[in-house]
Amino acid sequence: MYDQNNIFARILRGEIPAQVVKETPYTLAFRDIAPKAPFHILVIPKGAYITAGDFFCNASTAELEDFARTVGDLLKDREGYRLISNNGAAGGQEVPHFHLHLLSGQPTGNFG
Ligand code: AMP
Repeated sequence: MYDQNNIFARILRGEIPAQVVKETPYTLAFRDIAPKAPFHILVIPKGAYITAGDFFCNASTAELEDFARTVGDLLKDREGYRLISNNGAAGGQEVPHFHLHLLSGQPTGNFG
């Protein structure tokens, strides 16, 4: 069950400020409040999706395309970057609204 009062839902409703870097009809991108890299952006769908599995299974084609193109626009001029998505309690997800972390601006090493 989606928690309507999670912090990203509140950002989407304008109840909490965010440093927005890009907004489209279906997607919002804003700076992480506790950046782990010089460029640390969170990209979220505006729809109420909890995890990556939820979003990628249940979002409309328009939402999926808009999300992917927004990520692409933010990354296309960057040389090196890492994309992270934490999902579920066991996956370390703190905010239960699907989000993708975009990290760049410093060497990220090799994960995996
Ligand atoms: P996760 O652990 O993947 O759920 O990541 C949640 C992220 O949200 C963390 O990196 C937090 O620093 C970030 N965060 C929490 N509250 C805010 C906020 N109000 N504005 C921007 N980022 C936030």
